[in-house]
Amino acid sequence: MKKLLAAVVAAVVLLLAVVLGRTVASTSLQPQVEPVAVEVDVDAAAAHLAEAIRIPTVSNPEQHDPERFKAFNAWLTLAYPQVHASLQREVINDLSLLYTWTGADPSLPPVLLVAHSDVVPVEPGTEAGWTHPPYAGVVADGAVWGRGSVDDKAAVIAIMEAVDALIAQGFAPRRTVLIAVGHDEEIGGTQGAARVAEHLAAQGVHAAWALDEGMVITMGIIPGLAGPGALIGISERGSITVEISAEDEGGHSSMPPEHTAVGRVARAIARMEADPFPAALDGPAAQTFDWLGPEMPFGNKLAFANRWLLGGVITGQLTKKTTTNATVRTTQAATMFAGGPKENVLPQRAWARVNLRLHPRDSSASAIERVRTVIDDPEVTVALYTGTINSEPSPVSSTDGPGFLTLTRTIREVVPEAVVAPGLVVGATDARHYTAVADDVYRFNPLRFTAETREQLHGTDEHMPLENLEEYVAFFMQLMRNA
Ligand SMILES: [Zn+2]
Repeated sequence: MKKLLAAVVAAVVLLLAVVLGRTVASTSLQPQVEPVAVEVDVDAAAAHLAEAIRIPTVSNPEQHDPERFKAFNAWLTLAYPQVHASLQREVINDLSLLYTWTGADPSLPPVLLVAHSDVVPVEPGTEAGWTHPPYAGVVADGAVWGRGSVDDKAAVIAIMEAVDALIAQGFAPRRTVLIAVGHDEEIGGTQGAARVAEHLAAQGVHAAWALDEGMVITMGIIPGLAGPGALIGISERGSITVEISAEDEGGHSSMPPEHTAVGRVARAIARMEADPFPAALDGPAAQTFDWLGPEMPFGNKLAFANRWLLGGVITGQLTKKTTTNATVRTTQAATMFAGGPKENVLPQRAWARVNLRLHPRDSSASAIERVRTVIDDPEVTVALYTGTINSEPSPVSSTDGPGFLTLTRTIREVVPEAVVAPGLVVGATDARHYTAVADDVYRFNPLRFTAETREQLHGTDEHMPLENLEEYVAFFMQLMRNA
C-alpha cells in the first residue's frame, strides 16, 4: 500500500514538474523591434475615403452596376495622379484593377497587396438607423462614416495614400509591389480576384507573398489577452453546399407510408446535427495559442503550454462559442428545406441544403463522405450542390517565411502594444484566389476590432476612426519599406 502511494505521489510530482516546466519554457514568440513613427496626412486620407464612399459600388447579384465601378476607378485616377504616373495600371475584366510598382531589383519575386472596391448593400429599411447616411461619406466626430469605410475601401485608400506618400518621399521599392483591387469580393470574387490571378499566372508572375483582408487587431475580444491581438490569417476555411434529398412515389396523404420524403430528409438533418464534425485544436488555431499563450496570465499560459494534457478541455471550451467553435472544426448549417406542393399530397421529392465550412484538415470529398456515413440511409442522396460557389480550404501559409516575418515586424513597429499571432479565417475572402500565384498568402488589416465593430461591418453605422485610418496608412507605408 505504501509503495503504491509513493508511486502515485511520484507520478503527480513528475506531472506537475512537466506541466510547470513547459509553462516556464513557453517564451514569447513576439519579434522584438523598435517602434517606428510614420508620418501620415490623416486629413487627406479621410477626405479621400469619404469621397470613395460617395461612389456606391454595391455588390450583390441583382445590383452590380458596372458604371459605378468604372466611376470609382476613374475617380482613383484623379485622386492619386502621382500614383498613376509612377505605377503601371491594368484593367482586368473591365472593372478590377492591377497596379505594378516596379522594384529596383527585378531578380526578387514581387509582393502582392490585395483589396476590394465593392461593398455590401445597406439592408432596405435600415438607412434611417445610420448616424450619417450610408453613402454620404461624412467625416465627423473623429471618424469617416459610411458603407465601405472599413470593408474594404479603408484598405484601398490606405494603400493608395501609402504609395502616394512614399513616392513623395522619393522612395523606390526594392522588390516589385503589385496592388490588386477586385470588384466582386462580396459575391465570391470569381470575376475580379480570380481573373487577376489568372492574368498574373498567364504572365508568369509569382509573388513571394500576398496580403489581403481577413483578420484584424482584436480589442478585448480574446479571453486572457489584456492588450490588442493582431491576428494574421494563414489559411481560410473552404465552403461547400451539399444537397440532401429523398424521392418517393407520391400519392394521397390519407394513406401514407411510414416515412415520407420530407420525413427522411428531416431525419437525415437531425442525424447530422446530433453528430457534428470532430473538433480539435490543431493547425492554425493551435498556432494562435502557441503565439498568444506566452503573452497571457499564468493560468492561460499553463493551459496553452500543456495542450498535450489539457487540449481536450481547451477544445471543449472553444466549441461552446460559435465564434471559436468555427476555428476548431468543420461546421454545418442546414439553411434550406423544400418538400411537396400541397399539404395533402405526398411529396415525390424533398431536399435540404446544408452549408459546410471546411476546416483545413478536411476536404470537400472527405466531408461529403462523412455526411453520408452519419446520415446512414441508402434512400437519401447526398450530393455537392453546384448552383453556388464551392471552395476547398486554403493551403496553410508559413509562419517562418519572409512574408510572415515582414508582416509581424511591421505590425509591431507600427502598433507596438499589439501582440501578433497566426490564425484561421472562418469566412471567405478574395485571398483564396491568389494561392496559386504566391508562395504564401496572408490575411490581415490593421483594423482595431471591438464587439461593436462586428455589428457595424455589413450592418448599420460602419465607420473608421481617424486614429485607426492613420494606422492603416502607416502600416502599409512601413510594410512596403520592409518588403
Ligand atoms: Zn471585405
